[in-house]
Amino acid sequence: LTIDASSTEQGDKIIAAIKSLPKVKVISYNDRTFAIHRGGKISVESKLPLNSQSDLAMAYTPGVGRICRAIAENPEEVYNLTIKSNTVAVVTDGSAVLGLGNLGPEASLPVMEGKALLFKEFAGIDAFPIALDTQDTEEIIKAVKQIAPVFGGVNLEDITAPRCFEIEHRLRQELDIPVFHDDQHGTAIVVLAALYNALKLIGKEINEIKIVINGAGAAGIAIALLLKKAGASNITICDSKGIISTQRDDLNSNKQEFAVKQQGTLADAMKDADVFLGVSAPGVVTPEMVYTMADQGIVFAMANPIPEIQPELIYDYVAVMATGRSDYPNQINNVLAFPGVFRGALDCRATAITTNMYLEAAKAIALLVNDDDLDREHIIPSVFDKRVATTVAQAVCLAAQRDNIAQKPITNK
Ligand code: NAP
Ligand code: MG
Repeated sequence: LTIDASSTEQGDKIIAAIKSLPKVKVISYNDRTFAIHRGGKISVESKLPLNSQSDLAMAYTPGVGRICRAIAENPEEVYNLTIKSNTVAVVTDGSAVLGLGNLGPEASLPVMEGKALLFKEFAGIDAFPIALDTQDTEEIIKAVKQIAPVFGGVNLEDITAPRCFEIEHRLRQELDIPVFHDDQHGTAIVVLAALYNALKLIGKEINEIKIVINGAGAAGIAIALLLKKAGASNITICDSKGIISTQRDDLNSNKQEFAVKQQGTLADAMKDADVFLGVSAPGVVTPEMVYTMADQGIVFAMANPIPEIQPELIYDYVAVMATGRSDYPNQINNVLAFPGVFRGALDCRATAITTNMYLEAAKAIALLVNDDDLDREHIIPSVFDKRVATTVAQAVCLAAQRDNIAQKPITNK
């Protein structure tokens, strides 16, 4: 019996159900998802042959000593003579692993290895998983600074909000290599790209629409910040307690920045909204809430793996529907952004990652869907579209150059 269980949840349930059948004895079974993880998903490969005494003497001691001295004399040479220029640290504390919660550093490792795999496959970047055994903000900052000499960039991953904001902010101040929290900015870039194309389809402008964001965590706050930079002026954010309102006294500083006068529930917020962006929790939106939105509504229900509302329920009532899932049209997936963002940042040796780089990355992703292909089920490119990472990288390089943070000239290549 072969069962294709696309999610782990399903797989576990199916195996348990079969095992509980009367008169059935499960002798053995093979779980392909487990099978591909055995021994881990990535490895370090040597670039050099080691066949002779002379090979050894150059790659290692004594030859390597001259390389060390050259770097000691001119620290910039670390970019030419070591792995640094193409190596990214994928750093987590295991506190917000996927949508699964605080599973700790060991259990986060399969996700971080997966991220490293994607970096390599989509952008040729050597990324290394670093799962820290601390969830203390200061200790995380200190640890990342201490390992930074090895890396050309730092991708922060799956760290809970609001700690993630402070950690990223401080590391950006204190390091001269790009630091990027993907759960925030990767999401924001892809959402903005998809929104540009959705708005193009319905003929509305970003500065004249009402946007509701459900979820004020890592993704929600970053999306709101980027949309504001892109010209959005009417944004209402909700968290688990409803509208982020100036009347509330339980808001952290990131939420306070977006507080509006209106008080109430998500349902109140959604009335007359042109756009709903969900980065919150499964099933929290009802069809009735969507019916109260403005005509030609745009709904991105991105809670993973179960969206805020199932697309089938409202497909006929909205102009554009997107989710984070691969089994529905319009998958909002960070992999459209982070490989190209880091490729670009590394290639021009950017000292940081700026908002302009995000904005240009979003535009570049949006423009990859040409007008002939753009329809309500094709607002963003496929994650397997090979043009995405290079196009994003180019856009990011140009933005870095304009922001005067590119240390290396951009070549045609
Ligand atoms: P997070 O930092 O934990 O934030 C979650 C936010 O959702 C919090 O602000 C929380 O409210 C709010 N929330 C929880 N239950 C809610 C409810 N019933 N109604 C309204 N708000 C509720 O998580 P995150 O990293 O931002 O991710 C949030 C969700 O978006 C996850 O499901 C994640 O998988 C998904 N996501 C999808 C994509 C994608 O598709 N590309 C990208 C990023 C994130 P409080 O602040 O009150 O606790
Ligand atoms: Mg993540």
